Amino acid sequence: MSQIAIDYTYKCVLLDIEGTTTPISFVHDKLFPFVTNNLENFLNKNWKNNELQEQIQLLREQAIKDVSAGEFPDAKAIPEEIDNNEEEVKNAVIQNITWQMKLNRKIAALKSFQGYMWRGGYESGELKGIVYQDVIEALKRWREIGIKIYIYSSGSIAAQKLLFGYSDNGNLLEYFSGHFDTTIGSKLEKQSYEDIAKEVKFEPTEILFLSDNVKEIVAAKSAKFKVAIVDRPKNAPLSDKDRNDFIVFTDFLQVLAHPEFIASQG
Ligand SMILES: [Mg+2]
Repeated sequence: MSQIAIDYTYKCVLLDIEGTTTPISFVHDKLFPFVTNNLENFLNKNWKNNELQEQIQLLREQAIKDVSAGEFPDAKAIPEEIDNNEEEVKNAVIQNITWQMKLNRKIAALKSFQGYMWRGGYESGELKGIVYQDVIEALKRWREIGIKIYIYSSGSIAAQKLLFGYSDNGNLLEYFSGHFDTTIGSKLEKQSYEDIAKEVKFEPTEILFLSDNVKEIVAAKSAKFKVAIVDRPKNAPLSDKDRNDFIVFTDFLQVLAHPEFIASQG
């Protein structure tokens, strides 16, 4: 059966992850518990590993700052490892990470440690990135018709690559022409989208940005991107105004079929 050729008004798509390609709860329901639930085993299994010790050193340096800052009554130092105090150091590391994660801190040493554990989890197959099935169908279709696909997420590029590289549908990285994170700028700033357009070498009007976050959608639109809101289960509720101002999709196949994004024939 031959497919009818369709002309799309965009040549490039830029995709958010959480709440768009992936359930909004993925980080809180899968990634964070993976760290807290597996921490002790992970430390025991990898204790002699140099990379683990480097990660712990970063935590130790951060803990010194936290203790001396005086604003965190629960902050405790992580002792240096000397003869026979392995258990004491391990317990201090567990206490430190548990404490920081309860505060949901975004501090570099913690993020680095979490990323290190997640990489191990993905590589061993214990962790899988969750990507909606309709996203995979759309990725295939976009690639078939020559539309370039990029990711823009506040998760680091390294974390993005793990999520898609070890997804529950296998390695999806081949679909993407590139990745952006907040090193290019905040997702709420018009300038970030202008800079992304320059990087991907398309006019802003040729790029379709899909996200669950209305503020991001507003920023991208102000940079003249085409935009649509993605409304997945458990996403933040949209207001009547949001629904009035923007196109809202509940899955990616609707994007491919929407008349607004199909160039008029002749
Ligand atoms: Mg999102």
